[in-house]
Amino acid sequence: MSTHHTALIIGGGPAGSAAAHTLASHGIDTALIDKAVFPRDKLCGGLLTLRSKKIYSRIFAVPWDPVIDFTAHGVKFFHRERLLNEVSNASELFFTRRLDFDHFLLNQAIAQGTRHYQGETVISLDLAGKTGRLRSGAEFTFDTLIGADGVNSLVAKTLFGKAFDHDRIAFALEMEVDRAQCAVPIDDPEIIFGLARWGYGWVFPKKDTLTVGIGGLHAKNPELKKVFHEFLTARFGGIPEGKIKGHHLPFGDYRKTPGRGHVLLCGDAAGLVEPITGEGIAFAMQSGLYAAQAIIEAAAGGGDALPRYQARYREITRDFDHANRLRTLVFPRTSERLFLKALPKSSTLPRKHLELMADKLQYGDYFRYLMFKALKALAKRALFLK
Ligand SMILES: Cc1cc2nc3c(=O)[nH]c(=O)nc-3n(C[C@H](O)[C@H](O)[C@H](O)COP(=O)(O)OP(=O)(O)OC[C@H]3O[C@@H](n4cnc5c(N)ncnc54)[C@H](O)[C@@H]3O)c2cc1C
Repeated sequence: MSTHHTALIIGGGPAGSAAAHTLASHGIDTALIDKAVFPRDKLCGGLLTLRSKKIYSRIFAVPWDPVIDFTAHGVKFFHRERLLNEVSNASELFFTRRLDFDHFLLNQAIAQGTRHYQGETVISLDLAGKTGRLRSGAEFTFDTLIGADGVNSLVAKTLFGKAFDHDRIAFALEMEVDRAQCAVPIDDPEIIFGLARWGYGWVFPKKDTLTVGIGGLHAKNPELKKVFHEFLTARFGGIPEGKIKGHHLPFGDYRKTPGRGHVLLCGDAAGLVEPITGEGIAFAMQSGLYAAQAIIEAAAGGGDALPRYQARYREITRDFDHANRLRTLVFPRTSERLFLKALPKSSTLPRKHLELMADKLQYGDYFRYLMFKALKALAKRALFLK
């Protein structure tokens, strides 16, 4: 590989491709390294919200329709096997296969002039010396480095000693189930409470398959595999054919400072997974865009990219702070009971949540709405106990 690039990106997921596309289209000498050769898969439900669509459209010029596998307009909420509530005629929810989606994004970044090195694993970094080494033995140098290398980020490990504390983040299990193995047609995504602690289960429809998963805070779910097996058996009459895979998600544990010096972290490497829903693709693309904009601005105006990036990054993490507070209203056992009691009776609660995911409702407003609901429920209980 050529030895020096102005901007070097490690990781070709949504964060890395968003950054590469933005930088290359502004004429910055940009290279991206990924250990995989694309198309490559990534364990993921593949749910893309309207928020994702908006962010995608800010970055990429080609409409994403070719890689949308399925579109839904409603959601069903369950407590284990019991249907609690359903919403129809809601904002669109899109489903993609990451094998296709990530390849599509990377190809657009390449078309803008990004140099790409696929099938190359970065094994060590000397950040002060602005150099790195690949498993093949080749070395590279850079002016600015973007770590978009996912939840087990080597860049974050090199900066901070470790990527994440596994006890503070989530773990999820997932499998693709052939639609033929399901007796009833499934057209709306399903969210299942009561399976994972500080998390949930999901059945997401794709054209030919259903993506079935379960995830929650790692420390609170020591028996996740057993619970998933029980759920699959109850749902499909046995464990469907296919491979169950597991992966960590940095759910709620974002980096307060997303980098150091001339190194910026984006997407999962920075911990940008929404603390309640587990949505990460939108924030990966958004942070990739913001990191690239900060580098472009610093190149034009002088100074460092990191403070510029940090100011934009705060837009994302301000919402994560609201969501982190919200989840202490939703996930602990007592409040979860109240939430599950309120859900079947309320027509507004699930709709509001979908509006939040579609970026039609702001986190602060949703937080105030839920606080009001919780206080109302507590006041009712207090009156009843009198
Ligand atoms: C089970 C599960 C379900 C999920 N479902 C959803 C969902 O439905 N919707 C949603 O929005 N989010 C979902 N997420 C979260 C989402 O998958 C992530 O937030 C998103 O993939 C983050 O993108 P990224 O670009 O930061 O990292 P990634 O997509 O993880 O990309 C990182 C890239 O870096 C490369 N890399 C890593 N280390 C090196 C190295 N040393 N050298 C070279 N290359 C390297 C990898 O090969 C990879 O291509 C889910 C996550 C899990 C685990």
